[in-house]
Amino acid sequence: TLSDKLDLVFKKLRGQGVMTEENVKDALREVRLALLEADVNFKVVKEFVEKVRGRAVGTEVLQSLAPGQQVIKIVHDELVLLMGGGEDNSLDLAAKPPVAIMLVGLQGAGKTTSCGKLAKFLKAQRKKPLLVPADVYRPAAIEQLKVLGRQLDIEVFGSEATQKPLDICRAANHYATLNGFDVVIFDTAGRHQIDDYLMEELEGIRDELAPREILFVADAMTGQEAVNVATGFNDRLGITGVILTKLDGDAKGGAALSIKAVTGKPVKFVGLGEKLDALDVFHADRLVSRILGMGDVLTLIEKAQATMDEKEAVRLQDKMKKSGQFDLEDFRNQLQQIKKMGSLESIMNMIPGMGKAMKQMQGAQPSEKELKRIEAIIDSMTAKERANHTIINGSRRLRIAKGSGTSVQEVNQLLKRFSEAQKVVKQLQKMGPKGLLKGMKG
Ligand code: GDP
Ligand code: MG
Repeated sequence: TLSDKLDLVFKKLRGQGVMTEENVKDALREVRLALLEADVNFKVVKEFVEKVRGRAVGTEVLQSLAPGQQVIKIVHDELVLLMGGGEDNSLDLAAKPPVAIMLVGLQGAGKTTSCGKLAKFLKAQRKKPLLVPADVYRPAAIEQLKVLGRQLDIEVFGSEATQKPLDICRAANHYATLNGFDVVIFDTAGRHQIDDYLMEELEGIRDELAPREILFVADAMTGQEAVNVATGFNDRLGITGVILTKLDGDAKGGAALSIKAVTGKPVKFVGLGEKLDALDVFHADRLVSRILGMGDVLTLIEKAQATMDEKEAVRLQDKMKKSGQFDLEDFRNQLQQIKKMGSLESIMNMIPGMGKAMKQMQGAQPSEKELKRIEAIIDSMTAKERANHTIINGSRRLRIAKGSGTSVQEVNQLLKRFSEAQKVVKQLQKMGPKGLLKGMKG
C-alpha cells in the first residue's frame, strides 16, 4: 500500500530535523503513482504534487509522527482541500419557487437516473419536485423518466417526443408555477460526444429557465476523459456543480478530483448504484480516502490527527509552564484521547509524560476496562477535586466510589497512580519543551 511504501521511503529520514527536497522526492513519486492509478488527470496530478512538495519541504519532522504518516497527512489534507472539503457544497435552492435544476452530460452518464434520485432526495426534504423529460431524441427517454416518477410517486411533466425541448421546458416551467411546485428538475438529452448542436440547444434551455443549478452528470468510470468533457460543458453552459455517478463500481473517483480541480466546480452528489436511493451527498474526505485507496490510510490519518491532539499536548505544556500543574482533569483528557486511538502501547508513548509515567506505575498499562473505570472515578469527582486531588479525604473517597460504582480501594489506587504520574510530569517539565518532546517518545 501507499502508506507502507511511504514508511519505507521515510525510514531513512527518521532522526533528521526537517524534510528536504531529496527526502520528499521518493515519497512524492509514490503519491503521484497512486493518484494516476486512481485515474486522476495527469496535469492535475502534476500540480498537486508540486503543491504538496512545497508544503512538505522544510517542514519540521514531528518527533511523534513517522514522516511517512506526516506526508500522508499533508497529501490527505491537500486532497480534501482540492476537493472542496469544508466548502458548502449543498444544492442552491435559494430562489423564488419553482427553482429550476438542469441536469446535463453525455449519453449514458446517468442523467435520467440522477433526476429520479434527486427528486426523491428533495421529496424527503418535504419539497414538491416536478420531473421534466426534455430528451426527445433518445427513444423511450421520456418513458424512462415517467416510470421513475411512478415508482417515486412524483409527478412527471407530460412531454411529447414530437415537441421541441425548449418548448417543453417553457411549458413545464409555466405548469410548475401554476401548480405550486418548489423545484423543477429538467432531464436533458446527451450525446456520445460534445457537439455544437446539443450545446446550442442546452444554452437555449438555460437562457429560458435561468436555472439555479446546472449539474453536470459525470460517469466516474470515464476517468481522465471526464476532465475534457466537463470543461466542454462548463465553458458553454457554466455548470454549477457535478453529480458523479457509478462510484459503486471499480472507479476510484479520480475523475471527481480532476473535474473539481480543472473547472473549480464542486461535486455535490455521488451516485452509488442503479436504485433510486443510491444517491449520497458528497463528502470530500470519503472520496479522498477512496482515491488514496488504502483502508489503513484512514487509520493512519486518525492516528496522526490524534497525535495532532498534540495541540492538546501543547496546551498542557503551556499550562504546566504557567502553573506547574497537571491535574486530574488533564489526566482524564489524556485518557479520553487514548481511548479514541487504537493500540494502547503504540500510542502511550506519544503522550507527554504518559509513556514514562505508565511504565513506572505498577501494572504498566491499563486495559480498556480499567480505563473506563478510571474515567468513571474521575467523572464522579467535583471540579474542585479534579483541580486539587489533595482535598480528597476519606468521606470524599467514599462518595466518589459510590458515585462511580467502584470501591474506595480502587479510588485510592487511582489517586496513587495519579500522584505518581504527576511527579513524572513535573520532572519532565523541569527539562523544558525539548525534554518534553523526548518524553513523548517514551
Ligand atoms: P443518461 O443517458 O445520462 O440519462 O443515463 P441513464 O440515467 O439512462 O443511465 C445509464 C445507465 O447507467 C443506466 O443503466 C443506469 O441504471 C446506470 N446508472 C446510473 N447511475 C448509476 C450509478 O450511480 N451506479 C450504477 N451502477 N449505475 C448507474
Ligand atoms: Mg437519459
